[in-house]
Amino acid sequence: MKFDDFPVDALMQITTRPPLVFLRGEGSWLWDHTGKRYLDFVQGWAVNCLGHCPEVIARVLADQSRRLITPSPAFYNEPSIRLAQRLVASSSFQRVFPANSGAEANEGAIKLARRWGTKNRGGAFEIITFEDSFHGRTLATMSASGKPQFRPLFEPKVPGFPKAKLNDLASVEALITDKTVGVMLEPIQGEAGVIPATDEFLRALRELTRERGMLLIVDEVQTGVGRTAKLWGHEHAGVAPDIMTLGKGLGGGVPLAALVATEAVSCFEPGDQGGTYNGNPLMAAVGVAVLDTVSAPGFLAGVGDAGRLLSEGLFALSARLGLGGLTGRGLLLALDLRRDIGSAVVDDALERGLLLNSPRPHLLRFMPALNVSAEEIGKMLEILERSLLQAMDS
Ligand SMILES: *Cc1c(COP(=O)(O)O)cnc(C)c1O
Repeated sequence: MKFDDFPVDALMQITTRPPLVFLRGEGSWLWDHTGKRYLDFVQGWAVNCLGHCPEVIARVLADQSRRLITPSPAFYNEPSIRLAQRLVASSSFQRVFPANSGAEANEGAIKLARRWGTKNRGGAFEIITFEDSFHGRTLATMSASGKPQFRPLFEPKVPGFPKAKLNDLASVEALITDKTVGVMLEPIQGEAGVIPATDEFLRALRELTRERGMLLIVDEVQTGVGRTAKLWGHEHAGVAPDIMTLGKGLGGGVPLAALVATEAVSCFEPGDQGGTYNGNPLMAAVGVAVLDTVSAPGFLAGVGDAGRLLSEGLFALSARLGLGGLTGRGLLLALDLRRDIGSAVVDDALERGLLLNSPRPHLLRFMPALNVSAEEIGKMLEILERSLLQAMDS
């Protein structure tokens, strides 16, 4: 089939897409409508943590779809009970509200914090967020985001999200008023270009929020579920937040997210929160399988090993070609190209059969499957070098 044979015009144009239609995926590989094969270091934006179409997810989807797809969120179902139990058992939190997207989980976190502020802090509702942060595309999560491109859009925004500077505690303190209920941040800012909150900053924020009676909310939609080689990104800093949100990797490719909170903060009352598909057995069962896989002995150590191999390769490449440094942890890494050739590299790599992401003009971001092989990392580095040389040449 040719690209022109696909009637793509019926889709709303929400982004510029290359003239490709992907038909099949397996592990770290994707195939387009012409049969061309691509090595995928984007993986649905850090979503397919076990790669494309892993057998464990295919099997769970098939089995669960024959047993029970949804009884309505007004009733308990077995997979959502297991999902919540798995999340609680492997974290410092006690309560879970399953959701369908990262934005929805964050929207829930904002509502929960405001509810808590109403009950415990005399109506405090402001949540301090950070410049360049990304929390989703609903109106409230766009308002919470510090992404500069969002600023002029969809005015008026939802009020109550003053922006501080990441890794600058004084900038947070300066924004605290009697209306402040919490601080929300990504342990590593993903869309901004893989910019980590330092462990010291996370610990200082935990101390500050505790002292001032405020909530610490971590948006782990991108960093959670093993992406940084620990199960949760905030574990590196050794802090226990009040609220955590998950998405992306939690479903391993299916729409699944979660709002996770401590017992003390979980103050929703009947009617405050809900949703038709929230906690549906089909997606919840996949989440359980993903968590079982990622928590299996040796899996996270393997993510660490793959992350080291990838960063060593990128370091060597950077040294050879005179590029800049690396940021990130585990298998969420970004390479500074020191020149605005990101999109040229992405385009050239696509031609050569490699999918990469450039979150900023001078950066490349790497977010392969967590079970990416050493051979695939080697192959990626080979193609990347050719694309870099090509882009630097022109
Ligand atoms: C992707 C992302 C979101 C939004 O998740 P969606 O599933 O696209 O709504 C929120 N926060 C962070 C940190 C993300 O990376």
